[in-house]
Amino acid sequence: MVATYIQRRILPKELQLSPVYIAPLNGIGILAYHILKQAGVLVQGFIDNDPSLQGERVCDTLILSPQQAIEAHKNATVIICSAKSRHAIKDQLEAIGVGSIIFSDSLLTSENVKASLSAAKNTVFPAAPERISLGEFDERFVMDEKLLEQPDAFLFENLVVCVTERCNLRCKDCSTLMQYYKHQEDIPLEEITHSFDMLFKTARYSKRINIQGGEPLLYHSLPDLVRHIGAKKVCRQLYVMTNGTIIPSHELLTAMQESDCGLDMNIYPGYEKKADEIERLCQEYQIDYRIKFDRDDWIDMRKFVDGRDWTESKLQQHFSDCQSYCVYLYRGHLYYCAFTAHARRLGAIPDDDLDSIDCTREIKIQLLIHFLVENKPVPSCRYCSGVNYSHGDRVMVAAQAKKTLPYPKFQ
Ligand code: SF4
Ligand code: SF4
Repeated sequence: MVATYIQRRILPKELQLSPVYIAPLNGIGILAYHILKQAGVLVQGFIDNDPSLQGERVCDTLILSPQQAIEAHKNATVIICSAKSRHAIKDQLEAIGVGSIIFSDSLLTSENVKASLSAAKNTVFPAAPERISLGEFDERFVMDEKLLEQPDAFLFENLVVCVTERCNLRCKDCSTLMQYYKHQEDIPLEEITHSFDMLFKTARYSKRINIQGGEPLLYHSLPDLVRHIGAKKVCRQLYVMTNGTIIPSHELLTAMQESDCGLDMNIYPGYEKKADEIERLCQEYQIDYRIKFDRDDWIDMRKFVDGRDWTESKLQQHFSDCQSYCVYLYRGHLYYCAFTAHARRLGAIPDDDLDSIDCTREIKIQLLIHFLVENKPVPSCRYCSGVNYSHGDRVMVAAQAKKTLPYPKFQ
């Protein structure tokens, strides 16, 4: 058997309905172009602010300024292919009236990359080749290519390990449903490490593992868990996700440094006070870090709905439209998403064994493949509004609830 990656990303609908542009012209943009071409999507052109590139051609398409692209196609969808400048590019495009903007992440699944990498590498660039770093995708994907050659390898794109339901904030619209927990608890370290080890007896590797809560910096055993996961050498990137309101301890920073674990901070308005100090510590301990000042509205996601009377095809469509993109290890089970895990824990949806995989005992690889690769909805999708980054309702970032919120329940 060849290696299997989780690949449940489908092409967002916008890409099938409106003219598509890619911004800016860089290695990832070229890769996205070839992925879309493979999928039968015609890309109208690239958008780039560099005047020396505008008017040139690449991949049989024109390179345009943002203004030229929107004049040519008022209803264009633009795929942003830049990690560092994504918000600046998004702001610029929105300011000139681009209504439909997608980030490239959902296209860059390993199967997609594998199918399109050599075409991307063979692309001839028109000018300014130093700007179009082929190393950019070599560095990111060469390890995946090697792994994909291994037999019997089951590889995750993105795995979340949830360590606690406790959080020092109570965001009304927390996508992991923490605002509904009356009794927030830590998950015992042994329970997490046991299920993690069982999972990686069958799975080989994850491109990224995020340790998440609630707020994981409240979790006392975090240094031990970081060391445990780091020592397994089963992921390319290991990150602790935090809201940036707690200064990490020396013990944690040391464990992170030794385990090559980064800190990923989402800082919310009104909670910026400690960000500088945390950044300084990351630099001092030479820890990879990322800070995002989360000022855009949030998308309202994973709300409770009642879809018990949905037909199978309506359920499948609802699931296919959902852009949730990680799998979630929580209390000994592997779930498709945080909603399923926590709605079940909160008793809001019926218990259904088909919603998760039991990771407290040996897992058959066929079960993993069936569960995660076949693109089928899980029973809990009937109770969840799903995740839609393009069309979901907008809510204020990190608006706080004064007390635990009541959660609707399946009756
Ligand atoms: S900071 Fe807010 S969004 Fe993050 S886990 Fe806590 S309650 Fe949820
Ligand atoms: S329960 Fe289904 S619809 Fe909801 S986030 Fe998970 S996969 Fe998406």
